[in-house]
Amino acid sequence: MRDNREYDVLRSYDKHDKCGLVWIPRVVAYRCRTCGISPCMSICRDCFHRGDHSTHDFNMFLSQAGGACDCGDNSVMKEDGFCSNHGNKCPRPGTAPADLKCVAEAMMPRLILRLLQHFRENR
Ligand SMILES: [Zn+2]
Ligand SMILES: [Zn+2]
Ligand SMILES: [Zn+2]
Repeated sequence: MRDNREYDVLRSYDKHDKCGLVWIPRVVAYRCRTCGISPCMSICRDCFHRGDHSTHDFNMFLSQAGGACDCGDNSVMKEDGFCSNHGNKCPRPGTAPADLKCVAEAMMPRLILRLLQHFRENR
């Protein structure tokens, strides 16, 4: 559980539409030779499944030293291999804060209405 929270923190620092997920040793990761420009590219399980690599020349490996996800980094892998959440296919960086803001904005009028009703009922 502790590790998951650390991943979230690392992800929230991502400013370039890259996954950048950092994993600890002995975690399963994926490498796609069809998408990889560099032979040391590696992507996390989430990005592998979100991207379409099913017909590619990929392999799953147990990361011995730990590593980081290269999804969204076009210096290491082709843009075709980026998953739906990263790289140019995702025009909105920082999706989560924006969504939260939208929710807050949508909630505000309702909260105010409810407060007004509350005051009327108590009069
Ligand atoms: Zn990833
Ligand atoms: Zn990704
Ligand atoms: Zn691929």
